[in-house]
Amino acid sequence: MDLTPDNLLAFDREHIWHPYASMSSPREVYPVVRAQGAELELADGRRLIDGMSSWWCAVHGYNHPALNKAITDQLADMAHVMFGGLTHRPAAELVDRLLKMLPQGLDKVFLSDSGSIAVEVAIKMALQYWQGLGRKSKTRLVTVRGGYHGDTMAAMSVCDPISGMHSLFADMLPKHYFAERPSSRFDSDYDSGSIANLGKILKNHAGNIAAVIIEPIVQGAGGMWFYHRQYLADLRRLCDKYDVLLICDEIATGFGRTGKLFACQWADIVPDIMCLGKALTGGYMTLAATVTTMKVAEGISANGMGFMHGPTFMANPLACAVACASLDIIATGKWQQQVANMEGRLRVGLDPLREHESVVDVRVLGAIGVVELQEPVKVAELQGKFVEQGVWVRPFSNIIYLMPAYILRTQDIDKLTNAIVNVL
Ligand code: PMP
Repeated sequence: MDLTPDNLLAFDREHIWHPYASMSSPREVYPVVRAQGAELELADGRRLIDGMSSWWCAVHGYNHPALNKAITDQLADMAHVMFGGLTHRPAAELVDRLLKMLPQGLDKVFLSDSGSIAVEVAIKMALQYWQGLGRKSKTRLVTVRGGYHGDTMAAMSVCDPISGMHSLFADMLPKHYFAERPSSRFDSDYDSGSIANLGKILKNHAGNIAAVIIEPIVQGAGGMWFYHRQYLADLRRLCDKYDVLLICDEIATGFGRTGKLFACQWADIVPDIMCLGKALTGGYMTLAATVTTMKVAEGISANGMGFMHGPTFMANPLACAVACASLDIIATGKWQQQVANMEGRLRVGLDPLREHESVVDVRVLGAIGVVELQEPVKVAELQGKFVEQGVWVRPFSNIIYLMPAYILRTQDIDKLTNAIVNVL
């Protein structure tokens, strides 16, 4: 089949599913032929400044020489081998780098294939831990409204019950406890009452609860909400008090996105289990990690049990190799200046939109800029307008946001924020 840009689109429409899309009335998609630095090049030659970093993972930009080299060097040795009964240097090198970055105590690492699976693994770790300790009634989870943890079944069961897909799959999903969304904003005074609802759930049901799962500081796909660091500190305290594990899902926030290497560090807390993904490979390949402590690992393995998970592509050597190269760039610390600059520039560009009649809120934290609108947007229509402006920005619900690569130049950040101003 000779795929011209035109018949590629026709073929795609006919046969290929896109995220959250319909096959019977698919929305417009744009063919990309190349990606370089912070730019996507479309088949018709247009170049777009990418404000999304491919769903928040390509933090060093596209076609990065060091990341490319890591993969091609590794390819010469092996693309993949099973991890059951075998091990390899790329996995060990990666875990060594992670241990140098992670909060102390988190030093048992399970490498899996995607963010959602890292969350499944975290949940299974928590469940198996309590089983191992003989506390068999501790099988439920607690989370907060407005969260997002992935699209697989267990992950979906702790996504926001309204904006998640609970209504579609209600009868199949395990029922967990949902506390109110952390209402105190990141940058205003803390209302200690905001965690009372969650505290009450823990107090009343601790005997049935295995873990609390939460996105630290930034709730991403559930509405791009930034909450107060004291909430997270209080949550750690409550989990200890009621003997419940704390799972922090750092898949979106990890590796500098919020201005700290990990968002947990805003509150100086260490979770019992942490999920990592997205930027782990600099956005090159799919890889995730679920990290836990010796205490949890020992509980899981009480009674001679193994941890019951083992995907085919666990610790894929190509993905581990590129993750090593990505973490080497992170370890230079350059991201700190880049993210701080971006935060300042996003504020300058987006703050004036507070006055706009259809805007409810503007918030910026690290390399994340959010414009919350009164009404949900027409995604396809706005998408087209952003492309006309020479940028790639994909809104959802009533949120227009930017989560670009850290390497963006000031004029590229300005182009993104100006595009939002123009489109609005
Ligand atoms: N957790 C969080 C916080 C996420 O933002 C995402 C993805 N947006 C996931 C989990 C799921 O990751 P993946 O899409 O790689 O399965």
